[in-house]
Amino acid sequence: VKQDIIIKIPDWLYTETSETYSSFSSFENKMSFVCSLARKNIHKGTGGPFGAGIFDSNGNLVSAGVNIVEYNNCSIFHAEIVAIISAQMKLGRYDISNGGKENFDLVSSTEPCAMCFGAVPWSGVKRLVCGARDADARAIGFDEGPKLENWKEELEKRNINVHVDILRSEAVDILNLYANSGGAVYNAGGNA
Ligand SMILES: [Zn+2]
Repeated sequence: VKQDIIIKIPDWLYTETSETYSSFSSFENKMSFVCSLARKNIHKGTGGPFGAGIFDSNGNLVSAGVNIVEYNNCSIFHAEIVAIISAQMKLGRYDISNGGKENFDLVSSTEPCAMCFGAVPWSGVKRLVCGARDADARAIGFDEGPKLENWKEELEKRNINVHVDILRSEAVDILNLYANSGGAVYNAGGNA
């Protein structure tokens, strides 16, 4: 049976990113923006407390993602994955770097889980910028999966620069907001 794959994106995310967002000059500017998406995802009830964005070398927003696992009933739609898919569709290529010619940042409100860590090198982004640590996500019950101890070094070896703890406390506040508001922790298979 033919089954096209359709990803439902919350309407508010279109509104939020429909204006021309340009010149996010610093990691903090970019992080603040993706944190605002994560916060809005909680308030709108469309998913977990995670936001991500891909920015070009001029600091322009190329794509945005939030966690829409429950919204789509699909376990892999983490914020980073949604941002990566969206950028690749928009740019019309599976290698965001266009053969290494262009530099893009993936900015994520929380360090990537095991799955998203795996997706980063395949995406073609050149820098990964993280807010909260995976320990912060685990602290409210999210399973980050079996990640390598030296995951940052492994990305660096592939010429992907990793920057962590950017606006970490703001990003952690969002995780706690979600936990305190009784948000679902949607690990599968009874893993909690
Ligand atoms: Zn993930």
